[in-house]
Amino acid sequence: MTRVCIVGAGYVGLVTGLGLAELGHDVLCVDVDEGKVDAINAGRAPIHEAGVHDLLRMHVGTGFRASSHLAEAIAASQLTLLCVGTPSSANGSIDTSAVERAAAHIGSALPSAEPGHCVIVKSTVLPGTTDGTVTEVLAQFSGMSPGVEFGVGANPEFLTEGQAVEDFLRPDRIVIGGDELALAALRKLYAGLPDVPLVVTNARTAELVKYASNAMLANAISFANEIANLGSAIGGIDAMEVMRGVHLSRYLTGKGPDGSPVRAGLAAFYEPGCGYGGSCLPKDVAALAALGREMGLPLLLLDAVAAVNDGQPARLVAATEAALKGLPGRRIAVLGLAFKPDTDDVRCSPAFPVLHALVAGGAAVVAHDPIVGAEVLEREGLTEVAHVADLQSAIKAVDAIIIVTRWADYGALPGLLAELDPAPVVVDGRRMLDPSSVPHYAGIGR
Ligand code: NAD
Repeated sequence: MTRVCIVGAGYVGLVTGLGLAELGHDVLCVDVDEGKVDAINAGRAPIHEAGVHDLLRMHVGTGFRASSHLAEAIAASQLTLLCVGTPSSANGSIDTSAVERAAAHIGSALPSAEPGHCVIVKSTVLPGTTDGTVTEVLAQFSGMSPGVEFGVGANPEFLTEGQAVEDFLRPDRIVIGGDELALAALRKLYAGLPDVPLVVTNARTAELVKYASNAMLANAISFANEIANLGSAIGGIDAMEVMRGVHLSRYLTGKGPDGSPVRAGLAAFYEPGCGYGGSCLPKDVAALAALGREMGLPLLLLDAVAAVNDGQPARLVAATEAALKGLPGRRIAVLGLAFKPDTDDVRCSPAFPVLHALVAGGAAVVAHDPIVGAEVLEREGLTEVAHVADLQSAIKAVDAIIIVTRWADYGALPGLLAELDPAPVVVDGRRMLDPSSVPHYAGIGR
């Protein structure tokens, strides 16, 4: 058992903390947001994420607690996981000020911690941040020697929102990098997951594994979208059919022991749609590209990946405009505000550029999401858009329905539309419906 301090009780910190408590560790989760701390200690999850609520109820007050007192938490623990946010800054790079501020506070508290305490960066940071800035700040504020009196390492997080708890308990890999103290502490921390492939390396390699992994996924999505856009321009081509043919390549569909086809998970990323969003892919692609520019090594491929993605919401709007023969005065329901299903995270959701373009085009717009509430629209400056909580009401008396998020609820649309006369056109930004299941269908890459 390790006594763990988590700094930052957001998506990553909370899920990691609860997962570690489930593995039998003793976890103290620190956050500057006292509302979050109080909610967690009262057993209320501040995020919508499958499994979090159950784990919280199971462990809160025993193996898992939240606190707003960092120094006390460091003094009481053997290992600190730094999980604060690293948002995009204006030039596309990342803003590491929260990491640096937290490192300064941790450094100040280190002298009162157990000898050999390890500080592990779990936040996504550019290669060289952990063994550079973070180590320097910790050494400066503690007056102690890194690698000797305290350990420093990187352990990037690969969780997927919507299945984050499952990803923690059954990860595809664990990547750890750092000095000997940090590596030993991390091996012990994850000993409860013995069958998981472990990549043991230096901190900057671990940091780049995270960026390279997300860049690869974004690359696949933009590739599929670029092919879909070309198919649309040529005409008479359905990009879903193209991609189904591509998926059958032996590199994406192998054979199981009994000869049955086994599709690689990556194939799901080679599908046309209205683009990736969320708190990771856009930010990580931009940060890596910005690093390349800063180093005099422009990353041409990643710049193109981002440019293709930035254009996808406008394509969805153009498909709607074409189907309706104009936007002014048209009534449109946009379905989905979360950047993906099963999460309430709306960071960089493609829904927002779509909504802004529809409003600017003079349409009367309503928005629906099974989880995300109306306050988000106000925050995004979309006060003209009405939030309708009930799906059936949202699609009543509209000329078009645009699917932005692949929520399972929207699978009910064919049945709901059968009751509407005239039926609106469905513009399927996720290609989730069978085109023949609704009266009027348009989709990306058709
Ligand atoms: P988040 O914004 O949900 O959470 C960050 C938390 O840190 C907030 O609760 C904030 O109040 C707290 N915080 C900020 N400064 C603090 C300080 N000095 N002391 C204590 N708490 C502090 O962020 P997130 O989505 O959990 O992401 C955290 C990091 O993990 C980022 O670098 C992100 O890129 C990376 N990451 C995120 C995901 C994801 O799916 N969300 C996946 C992999 C990696």
